[in-house]
Amino acid sequence: MRFLLADNAGCGYRSVLRNPLGELMTGLSWGLVGGGEGSQIGFTHRAGAELDRKFRLAAGAFDIQPTRSRAFGAGLGLNPKRVYGDWREMLAAETRRQDRLDLVTVATPNASHFEIASAFLNAGFHVLCEKPLTTTRETARQLSEIAAASGRICAVNFGYTGYPMVRQMRGMVQRGELGDLRLIKSEFAAGFLADTEIDKNPRVGWRFDPEKAGVSFVMADMGSHALHMATFVTGRNVSRICADFANGVAGRRLEDDAWVAFRLQGGIIGRLWVSGVALGRTHGLTFQLFGSKGGLSWKQEHPEQLQWTPLGEATRILERGSPHLHAEAQRANRITEGHPEGMVLAFANIYRDLAEAIASDQLEHSTDSANWAFPDVEEGRHMVDAVCAAAESSAEGCRWLRLS
Ligand code: NAD
Repeated sequence: MRFLLADNAGCGYRSVLRNPLGELMTGLSWGLVGGGEGSQIGFTHRAGAELDRKFRLAAGAFDIQPTRSRAFGAGLGLNPKRVYGDWREMLAAETRRQDRLDLVTVATPNASHFEIASAFLNAGFHVLCEKPLTTTRETARQLSEIAAASGRICAVNFGYTGYPMVRQMRGMVQRGELGDLRLIKSEFAAGFLADTEIDKNPRVGWRFDPEKAGVSFVMADMGSHALHMATFVTGRNVSRICADFANGVAGRRLEDDAWVAFRLQGGIIGRLWVSGVALGRTHGLTFQLFGSKGGLSWKQEHPEQLQWTPLGEATRILERGSPHLHAEAQRANRITEGHPEGMVLAFANIYRDLAEAIASDQLEHSTDSANWAFPDVEEGRHMVDAVCAAAESSAEGCRWLRLS
């Protein structure tokens, strides 16, 4: 993670509280842009952010329609003065407050991320932006520069990295347990786009519109999670990519299926299939990593279990919550082994790491930043580069393209 925390004197932050063990207790103030009634991801953010009571939802511009935004905020019991019809109104009013927001989450359609995230960063707010960070390489580069100049955190919500067993995979790689890394095979293939009626749903329709979604639908929306997981677990960036974007349903403006070959730094082979027309599949994110000393296999639909096959030994199942896991997986664990956790708790782990980072800044108290695992703006930028390169590769007849 690379971010600089600037001197926040004069920003009027609320003080945060620590218990006698030095752990952050409560008190960070949180705002949400997007994520309104009926949105796909709003609930998971609200549930995840507030789970540990480290963030408290204080303000929001929740919906593209001002009346719906106000009604939604009222339904959540927020102070009506801090429920806004528009994010610009929210930015102006929240910037003037003494009890400023400590973090703003941007959970709007993709093409609006750049303008909203950069405006809040420029005004001195820490930001958690939904993926994809932006829709073009240029805006991703600019946002990374804006974040660096602001000295604020700009995190990107690759939320699956919050799962304990994903962090366990990373821990195993870092400790050399897989040996030389050779091959990644990943899928994010679901069937939710199989019925063309779904295209009329406004929650899905914008994703096929290049003006709102960018150069890609399923690769940006789903594939970027899988590709990011490859970089997160291995610690290596994508060096080359080759993609075939296709349409199972003719006439859609962006792809509903993609096959992607890639290489990570160091020559690790990558194979990825992304789809929305795989009828019968539900969520469909799977991740397999094969090294010289063993192989790992993880499925988002069964996130508690990680299949591990050491070379020459029988396959075993590592269980979330087991005392045998590495420290980073233990840290992300909340509930006793055998009681299912899930996606909300994965998001909560991202928010908890952000709370630690923000509180550490405010208290000038250095928590061990090695524990924080939230994806940062550079990771978001790298994924935008990869998605854009994949779209270009496909348009050029599946030509291999190098990433800088
Ligand atoms: P959605 O269409 O279901 O909901 C979008 C919400 O944002 C709606 O409430 C809409 O009214 C509101 N909105 C739109 N423009 C706005 C604006 N200018 N100001 C304020 N509110 C506005 O979309 P979604 O599925 O919730 O996706 C939102 C973002 O989250 C996308 O970038 C998507 O890629 C991302 N996402 C991430 C994950 C994940 O696992 N990290 C999962 C789903 C979606």
